Amino acid sequence: MLILDGKAVSEARRQALKPRIVSFTEKVGRAPHLVVVIIGDVVASQVYVRNKVKACESVGMKSTKIALPAETTQAELNLLLDRLNADDEVDGVLVQLPLPKHLDEDEVNRRLVAAKDSDGFTFETLGHLWAGQKLVAPCTPQGVMSILEHYKISVAGLNAVVVGRSMIVGKPMGHLLLEANATVTICHSKTKDLRDFTTRADIVVVAAGQRHLLGREDFKQGAIVIDVGMHGSGEGKGLAGDVRFSELEGWAKAATPVPGGVGPMTITTLLENTLWLAERRQKL
Ligand code: NDP
Repeated sequence: MLILDGKAVSEARRQALKPRIVSFTEKVGRAPHLVVVIIGDVVASQVYVRNKVKACESVGMKSTKIALPAETTQAELNLLLDRLNADDEVDGVLVQLPLPKHLDEDEVNRRLVAAKDSDGFTFETLGHLWAGQKLVAPCTPQGVMSILEHYKISVAGLNAVVVGRSMIVGKPMGHLLLEANATVTICHSKTKDLRDFTTRADIVVVAAGQRHLLGREDFKQGAIVIDVGMHGSGEGKGLAGDVRFSELEGWAKAATPVPGGVGPMTITTLLENTLWLAERRQKL
C-alpha cells in the first residue's frame, strides 16, 4: 500500500512557495500579509492561530494576529472586517472558528470579500467554486487534491465517495473531485447502508468526524482511502482519524495516515491561498 505522506507533500509545497514570496516581496515592496482574527479565549483556537502565524513566518510571509475580547459585538466585528477589506496592505484575512455564540458566522462569510478570503469559506468564494470560476477553495479539501496531484493520482473517471457534507470539508471536497472529472457521491449520517456506497468506490474521502468509523471491510480491494478525520489524544487513546488505518495494509492501493496525512496540508493550503490571492490582487 502506498502511504500518502501529507507531511512530505506539505514540506515540498512550502518550499515551492518561497521563491514566489521572494518575488512578490521584491515587486510589491512588502511581503504577502495574512491577518488572523481571533475572538475570545478558547485554548484550542489559540493553538491553531499560533500555528498559522508560525507557518507564515516559516515561508517569509507577514502575519498579524488581531485578538478581540469574547464580548466583541457583531457591529464591532463587521467594522473590523470592513477595515481589513479596504486595507491595501492586507492580502488575506481569516476569522478563527468557532466564534462566541452571540456572533454570526454567516455574517462573517457575507462580509469578508472573496478577494481576501484565505480560508475559502465565504459565500462569494463558494459561489465562484460552484459556478466553475474557482478563486480559492476551502483549505482541507484543496489540500486533499494537492496530495493526489503530488502522487500523480488522477481521479478522472473514478467512482468517488465522500463521507460527510459539511460546508468546509465534505461539500467542497465533492465539488473539487467533480471538477477533476470523478463521478461523485456524497454520503452523510442519513445515508442508508453507507458500506454499500463505500465498497463500490475507487476513492473514498472520509470526513465524518467519527473516530475509527470505517475499516478494511468498508472499502473495496485496491481503493484509495483519504482520511480527513482528526480526533485528539487523551483518555488512553492516541491521535486518530475516521479510518482504522492499520487494517488497510495489503488491501487498499493508497491511503493517508493520521497523523501525517491530510492534517499538515490544511495550513500549507492556507499559505498557498493567501499568496495566490495576494498575487491576483497585485496582478502578478
Ligand atoms: P462536521 O461534524 O461538520 O460534519 C460531519 C459530516 O459527517 C456531516 O455531514 C455528517 O452528516 C456526516 N456523518 C457523521 N457521522 C456519520 C456516519 N456515521 N455516517 C455517515 N456520515 C456521517 O465535521 P467537519 O466536516 O468539520 O469535519 C469532519 C472531520 O474532519 C472531523 O473529524 C474534523 O476534526 C476533521 N477535520 C480535519 C481537518 C484537518 O485539517 N485535517 C480540518 C477540518 C476538519 P450530517 O450532515 O447528516 O450530520
